Amino acid sequence: MIVADKKPIEEIIEEIKAMNNVLILGCNECVTVCEAGGKKEVGVLASALRMYFANQGKDVRIDERTLERQCDHEYLEEIRDIIDQYDGVVSIACGVGVQFMAEKYLEKPVLPGVNTSFMGVTEKRGLWTERCQGCGQCILARTGGICPVSRCAKRVFNGPCGGSTDGKCEINKEVDCAWQLIVDRLKALDKLDEYEILAPIKDWSTDRAGGPRKVVREDVAE
Ligand code: SF4
Ligand code: SF4
Repeated sequence: MIVADKKPIEEIIEEIKAMNNVLILGCNECVTVCEAGGKKEVGVLASALRMYFANQGKDVRIDERTLERQCDHEYLEEIRDIIDQYDGVVSIACGVGVQFMAEKYLEKPVLPGVNTSFMGVTEKRGLWTERCQGCGQCILARTGGICPVSRCAKRVFNGPCGGSTDGKCEINKEVDCAWQLIVDRLKALDKLDEYEILAPIKDWSTDRAGGPRKVVREDVAE
């Protein structure tokens, strides 16, 4: 899932302080799971903003709504009838949702209410960690299912680098060395001989480095 974190409320206030009618818009998918942008967080943010503006003696209308997804035309259409009531929208979906909405409602300010961080997993409640950077050419088959693109600070493909100590990464003693994890996993799979095979040079044109990407699937196209 896409993991995001809440923006400081001061940042959001700064963006909307000149507005009189604001819609706080949540998303029922990833940002709900990581407790940054779902219905509950819409309510909490809306209450905090109402309290702030009331304390300032400012009459600002703050409304709440949560869509099934903000990265989908179908669900974004659900607010077409009400969007003109607002001076702006604070979207607490990920950056994908914010952008898709901004493209759809060209003349309406759409402001991000969260900081989108990475694609990752819920290790436990309150702890999300990165697993994938969407490089467009998955190599997990040869790395025991551990991703060196997202989990190795240097993106080393024939690791570890010289800085790994006691299974930890040199950038932070709290962080596991991805290549230690890869070796451990290959051992567990009885595939350690694969560790000896040099990785081919990766084609980074399928990654972000190659510019904005798209996936075209003719088997599901309309
Ligand atoms: S190799 Fe690429 S696609 Fe596969 S998990 Fe890592 S970043 Fe994601
Ligand atoms: S210590 Fe391990 S995870 Fe850290 S940069 Fe080196 S190889 Fe990558």
